[in-house]
Amino acid sequence: MLTEALKKHWGYDSFRPLQAEAMQCVLDGRDSLVVLPTGGGKSLCYQVPAVCRDGLAVVVSPLISLMKDQVDGLLACGVPAACINSSLSADERRWVANDVRSGKLQLLYIAPERLVQPRTIDFLRDAGVSFIAVDEAHCISEWGHDFRPEYRELRRLRDELPGIGIHAFTATATEPVRKDIATQLGLREPDVLVGSFDRPNLLYRCERANSKIDQVRELIEQHPNESGIVYCLSRKDVEEISAQLNAHGLRTAPYHAGMSDDNRRRNQDAFIKEDVETIVATVAFGMGIDKSNVRYVIHTGMPKSLENYQQESGRAGRDGLEAECVLLYSMRDFGWWKKTIEESAASNQAAATASLQAMVNYCSGVRCRHRSLVEYFGQEFELASCNACDVCLGDLDLVDDPLIVGQKILSSVIRQGENFGIEYTALVLKGSKDQRIRQKGHDHLSTWGILEEEPLQALRDWIEQLISQDFLERVGEYNVLAVTPSGRELLRGNISPRLLRSVDSKKRQKRTTEKLAVDWEGVDRDLFDDLRILRHDLAAQAGVPAYVIFPDATLRGLAKFRPSTPEAMLRVKGIGEKKLADYGEAFLECIRDYCHENEKPLDCFE
Ligand code: ADP
Repeated sequence: MLTEALKKHWGYDSFRPLQAEAMQCVLDGRDSLVVLPTGGGKSLCYQVPAVCRDGLAVVVSPLISLMKDQVDGLLACGVPAACINSSLSADERRWVANDVRSGKLQLLYIAPERLVQPRTIDFLRDAGVSFIAVDEAHCISEWGHDFRPEYRELRRLRDELPGIGIHAFTATATEPVRKDIATQLGLREPDVLVGSFDRPNLLYRCERANSKIDQVRELIEQHPNESGIVYCLSRKDVEEISAQLNAHGLRTAPYHAGMSDDNRRRNQDAFIKEDVETIVATVAFGMGIDKSNVRYVIHTGMPKSLENYQQESGRAGRDGLEAECVLLYSMRDFGWWKKTIEESAASNQAAATASLQAMVNYCSGVRCRHRSLVEYFGQEFELASCNACDVCLGDLDLVDDPLIVGQKILSSVIRQGENFGIEYTALVLKGSKDQRIRQKGHDHLSTWGILEEEPLQALRDWIEQLISQDFLERVGEYNVLAVTPSGRELLRGNISPRLLRSVDSKKRQKRTTEKLAVDWEGVDRDLFDDLRILRHDLAAQAGVPAYVIFPDATLRGLAKFRPSTPEAMLRVKGIGEKKLADYGEAFLECIRDYCHENEKPLDCFE
């Protein structure tokens, strides 16, 4: 039954990991807590059973924009759904209420504050509710990153609607948040389903920010006509970077909390509707954006924690196709966050500092990025190589004699009296005649110029790598370097560090391009572009986001197999009966015309 509904409405043949188990819980009426990463396919876990069960599925969702996108998506798949929120007029609300009463709807999206009103609960009591799904369930936990006090009230649902199953969905992985969700919602012996947090389709890379604009521009140019997000640390950066990219002929729009609501909404819409490809934003942008075909997320500064990085970079590639996540970082970002944390009156300064340190270690670290992220969130990473990060793809070359290099650096730190920072130490090792160095007499140290043949940037990188591997630490107000106990072991030759050189950007880009091309195999790119334009126009006519018409994966499928008939079209993933009826002919015509003009064969199914 589930498989049939999945095929009929969504046009998919198989489930993603844990989807079938999660759907079974809903069918059986057993409470559940489902933790899947962004893009794991959580929505379908309650949408498919809602279609298969009698009665009305009620979905709690925190943001109006999220609800609207989900409802648009469901309607496009031929599933009767609606939402009730403050954006509706009194008339519209009455229509929805009528549809609920007459049993027309299968899913109803509703904001938490409205759901817990006595009037709404009374109304739902008579509406034949089959189950309740709580989306973004981590909002209920104070431990989570998006705590919403109104979610706390949801506890009342259990008491007021006692016989009805409750199913919580979140992408937040930490154990305390998970436990908190179950307690706060009053879940009864829930099935807890936790998926793998690895996102194998994301290609992670960290780079030092040297010339930000050029780096960002080069990255965007690797993705012509594709959607992407550029995250900045400040509003000022957003304005400047967006303007500079536009001056270079790219189409970007800025987004930050300092803009007027109208301007913000306009830019967000332009991004969702694909009138602009790139949105340049602060972290204010993202929550509530369901766009599944974000092909790159670039950070122009280091986020304050790995939790934040995972969330923000995770907005890439929700459709499961390859996408690129690049973090441009500098130690200035670290200093800035450290100061911000120290100046804040928050009670959890120690935790914030630890999160920040984990973030720095990730940036300057030399371990597989997928492994680092997955392990940070408490899971094991089983692959020897992810084949999808700068470390595993060999974008970074290992230094041949890391122990000797490490010893040279550490002994310089000691000879300098453990009283200087990264930049100064790098200059001493390079043999700089900087005035400060001469004044201190450090040009007479035996370590002065001991690594003079190496680029200054490599020296800075290695010092950071030694910090991230706990051989050095930054101490005090001025972040001066000090040798740790493990560093002393290194000096004695008992442990060796792993030090990396970066590879030149041309070679790296080639590897990235090859990696990102995997999902394009057999796809006719020109036809894909024609289909994308058609999708854009159809979406504009229907007033829905482009991906509601078809996800990218489906367009690529069409551009690869080039079906000529409705029956053949149904063989492409992501095309259900309703979408075939609504859009089939338009796409078939576009494919036929293209193949005719370009003498390409049709129906290229294996
Ligand atoms: P999440 O809410 O977990 O971030 P979504 O529910 O938005 O993820 O799903 C992400 C994308 O994956 C959507 O485009 C959705 O249609 C697609 N998807 C979900 N389940 C499947 C499946 N079984 N087969 C193919 N695509 C799927």
